[in-house]
Amino acid sequence: MWLRVDDTVEVITGNDAGVRAKVLSVDREQNRVVVEGVNRVLKHVRKSQRNPQGGRLSKELSVAWSNVMLVCESCNAASRTGAKYQDDGSKVRYCKKCGAQIGRTIAPARSAHAKTKK
Ligand SMILES: [Zn+2]
Repeated sequence: MWLRVDDTVEVITGNDAGVRAKVLSVDREQNRVVVEGVNRVLKHVRKSQRNPQGGRLSKELSVAWSNVMLVCESCNAASRTGAKYQDDGSKVRYCKKCGAQIGRTIAPARSAHAKTKK
């Protein structure tokens, strides 16, 4: 999965189809992403000590990453994305429509399997 937090994506299926918004979190194990304002649900919560009012809480649920597409800033379209390695071993994502690089360049793999923990 090539999505990262802060990417802008367009939702391609479901109730929010066509919406463009920012990726808030990425779950690489489940291949799901949380997109700002997308798949928002109202969760009904009981009164509790933490939430003495109870009531409804608005919350985004994750969507499968296959339901969103990365938006290319250069051609301003939801585009298919490729990844390629450059001569120095660094890796870039690019737009398959216009060929522009999307996002930052990833340095040559040293700790490719190191996991970022939150
Ligand atoms: Zn493009």
